[in-house]
Amino acid sequence: MHDVVIVGAGPVGLFLACELGLAGCSVLVLEREPEPGSPWRAEPLGLRGLFATSVEAFHRRGMLDQLLAASGVHGDSGTTPDADEPSPPRSVGHFAGMVLDPAKVDVAALPFRLPGPAPEMVMTSLETVEAVLSGRAAKLGVEIRRGAAVSAVAQDGGSVRLRAGEHEYAARWAVGCDGGRSTVRGLAGFDFVGTEPQFTGYVMLATLADPGKLSPGIHLTPTGMYIRMREGGHIGMMDFDGGAFDRSRQPTRDHLQTVLRRVSGTDVTLSDVRLASSFTDRAKQATTYRRGRVLLAGDAAHIHSPVGGQGLNTGIGDAVNLGWKLAATVHGHAPDGLLDTYTRERHPVGASVLDWTRAQAAAMRPDPHGRAVQALLRDLLATRDGTTYVFSKTSGASGRYELGDDHPLVGRNAPDFRLEDGTCLGDLMRDGQGVALDFSTGRRLYGPAAGWASRLRYAAGPARNDLGLGAVLVRPDGIVAWAGERAPDRAAFGRAAHQWFGSPEG
Ligand SMILES: Cc1cc2nc3c(=O)[nH]c(=O)nc-3n(C[C@H](O)[C@H](O)[C@H](O)COP(=O)(O)OP(=O)(O)OC[C@H]3O[C@@H](n4cnc5c(N)ncnc54)[C@H](O)[C@@H]3O)c2cc1C
Repeated sequence: MHDVVIVGAGPVGLFLACELGLAGCSVLVLEREPEPGSPWRAEPLGLRGLFATSVEAFHRRGMLDQLLAASGVHGDSGTTPDADEPSPPRSVGHFAGMVLDPAKVDVAALPFRLPGPAPEMVMTSLETVEAVLSGRAAKLGVEIRRGAAVSAVAQDGGSVRLRAGEHEYAARWAVGCDGGRSTVRGLAGFDFVGTEPQFTGYVMLATLADPGKLSPGIHLTPTGMYIRMREGGHIGMMDFDGGAFDRSRQPTRDHLQTVLRRVSGTDVTLSDVRLASSFTDRAKQATTYRRGRVLLAGDAAHIHSPVGGQGLNTGIGDAVNLGWKLAATVHGHAPDGLLDTYTRERHPVGASVLDWTRAQAAAMRPDPHGRAVQALLRDLLATRDGTTYVFSKTSGASGRYELGDDHPLVGRNAPDFRLEDGTCLGDLMRDGQGVALDFSTGRRLYGPAAGWASRLRYAAGPARNDLGLGAVLVRPDGIVAWAGERAPDRAAFGRAAHQWFGSPEG
């Protein structure tokens, strides 16, 4: 029996598998598709933007260089770790179809950011992310079984049994990372609630008979929205049809051309459509991410429109949050209730992403209401504060879990603190343990933390920029669990370590 079976070898399932493998759990991943990769996951259709918190997750596990190289970011990634403040992002996408100007992002105003090697945003593809993660998972001893579509899930007090084809599998825990139409979610009885769609969206690879009629870029029009990439025939569009298109059928060339003509207000002709698919802005979320021994992560737990590029980032956040908690539970050293903090912390994040995408769908409506909101948003996005606000939300920089501590850093993604010898927090987190950083001593020291030697690293010494702090306790997911001032209160540190890492050893 495995410790954990993960259903779905998408980016979220694979990230979680790596986290659990790193923590020494036995992990089996069951994936429906017989082979990795597909035109939907490769560029251009599989192109995805990873924001800072996701990029940092790769940095903290020693996968950043590989991710950047595989994503075609060679040499200059745009970061300057020795600078006084983080490098500005090179691109920041759009909000409700209104393109954001990266020069308007005030990086100094982002809370608790420090310069580090992780860029604020990386454009990559699902195929690339999955290739990097599956290579690492294999090195960590994770078994990935392909061509295994899970069709039955049952649990009792001590285990979960799953069926895929003729095969039965048993595990102590199971995690559904099987995407927006999750089978695990339905079979395990999760409630999935939310709002119905306002539009049908389409992505396609097509050839235009008369390309001059459709300008490249993102266009909000009086009848909808369309995006035409400069190269590669990649076109996206949104048709505010109330989600009426029957998505069980493949969109035909005629249908796509009719919609494209309507939303673009042109008589453009599609001479050839090589690939096409549809999506909606249906926004739904599981009411809890755990039922007994079955958990959900990624699109299986929350679906929403892809506008603003949040799904993958939110899913990686789920995997990073769940991995160490589930591993501690498997190994029997989790403090009481640790696993339930997964839903408590991640459900509000998912809910706010759903609202973020709903706000954009409402603003894009091709009617007088939508146009009024667009006019207002254009004014706000023309300001530095407006763009910085949107960027701080989409990048995760403003995210904070409510951990019951008033210190403004607690509950946030930890800044990439850099000690004077150049070692940064990300370097110290490669083995997946928590880190106790102690800036209050002049003596440089690295080693296991007394009392929690197998779960927590200790790193002491002056930092290049300690943000006025004396010590910081960072969880394995990079979240600050406790922060102490110049002369840190050791008893308070001990209580926080106990709360997150369980009873001291020995
Ligand atoms: C057009 C578009 C653009 C997007 N752009 C962005 C972006 O820029 N940034 C961003 O953050 N997000 C973006 N997203 C969203 C992002 O792609 C998803 O949120 C992300 O892929 C979710 O990852 P996942 O691992 O949860 O699910 P998936 O990627 O859907 O992977 C699920 C896996 O489970 C497998 N599976 C399904 N059922 C079973 C079963 N019964 N048994 C076994 N295996 C099963 C599937 O084959 C698949 O491999 C975009 C989405 C779309 C449609």
